[in-house]
Amino acid sequence: MASLTKKELQKKYEEYKAQGLALDMTRGKPGAEQLDLSLPMLDLVTSKDYKTLAGADTRNYGGLDGIPEMKEIFKDFLEVSSTDEVIVGGNSSLTLMHDTLARAMSHGFPESKKPWGQQAKVKFLCPSPGYDRHFSVCEHFGIEMVTVPMTDKGPDMDVVEKLVAEDKTIKGIWVVPKYSNPTGITCSKKTVKRLAKMTTAAKDFRIMWDNAYTVHHLSKEQDELENILEACKKEGNDERVLIYGSFSKISFAGSGVAGMGASASNINWMKAHLSMSTIGPDKINQVRHARFFKDFKGVQKHMKKHAAIIAPKFDAVIEILEKELGGKKIATWTVPKGGYFISLDVPKGTAKQVVKLASDAGVKLTAAGATFPYKNDPKDENIRIAPTLPSMGEIKLAMRVLAVCVQLAAAKK
Ligand code: PMP
Repeated sequence: MASLTKKELQKKYEEYKAQGLALDMTRGKPGAEQLDLSLPMLDLVTSKDYKTLAGADTRNYGGLDGIPEMKEIFKDFLEVSSTDEVIVGGNSSLTLMHDTLARAMSHGFPESKKPWGQQAKVKFLCPSPGYDRHFSVCEHFGIEMVTVPMTDKGPDMDVVEKLVAEDKTIKGIWVVPKYSNPTGITCSKKTVKRLAKMTTAAKDFRIMWDNAYTVHHLSKEQDELENILEACKKEGNDERVLIYGSFSKISFAGSGVAGMGASASNINWMKAHLSMSTIGPDKINQVRHARFFKDFKGVQKHMKKHAAIIAPKFDAVIEILEKELGGKKIATWTVPKGGYFISLDVPKGTAKQVVKLASDAGVKLTAAGATFPYKNDPKDENIRIAPTLPSMGEIKLAMRVLAVCVQLAAAKK
């Protein structure tokens, strides 16, 4: 589309503003149509039928690391080799990640000389743009965040290898390895190998492998991810990786089931701590999930139904970006094969302004900077677009408004 003059853009913007829009593209929440897909699950546990396959009474306490049939599903989901390498928890993987770091701070891992919280400085590598809540967890515990660039193959491994080899206060790295939040990239085979193999100055270094979008494909063309635990074991670094995932964007975002995978000794470490905070998870919800999905193949099959609902929404975003901003050399964006986000880069120094302009016109976007440690995007250029929750009509309208805001901010530069 031909470029509009600044005056024309301003006029268009004012027209949108006058419409009193109220559109929300902030968070990656599933839409109601997606949540409806799992409704039959609610009828699978009844007052007459609530036991596990082995006949355990799910109403009572116990089963700290989950019911056997759900551990089986998570074994395949998290790609670990046995159910001894799995904990099935409550509804949220973020809780499991938060609690892991809380325990590292208060008690340390088995190889830690002292709890992390008693060490003068603890740092974490944060590939960015990344998931804002990972960064909030670090900030919450006073873990210093070191920004590492994201490439289209995962974290920039030249930077990562150098930093972890030199600095023993660097205790870990966050990685969303598949269809990452927000850039949609999947770590290459080589990146996985380098992460598993690299020499770390800290003996108790951990990779927080948040595989939140492992089955969240948008098309038939799917990304493949190497098995990180196997790769670590091959290098003799069995304890290095902690893997997380959940059903939040498979069944119900508020009532899914989360799991953690790791070497049996890491799992035993976690279980010992877990037993201090719970006598057991919600097993009734685990039975619901196990009955509904049956096995990992059932999960994969179900995800095709999600893709059929959300892929057109992603397509609509891309189509409007292409039509309104394509060829103008003012913005670039990702075209992900899976996950929940599209990452938009606008001219340097304008992301905050674009988000503000959009907000003033009634289109709420994730705050600019949120995808970086300390909410500080050094180039002020990244905007995360979350297209799953709004309706198709809302998405199209919101994207048209956003495209005008991007052009307006670029013209004002
Ligand atoms: N990890 C990533 C990368 C996410 O994008 C999200 C949800 N936005 C979560 C974890 C949260 O997962 P859960 O609902 O299992 O806590």
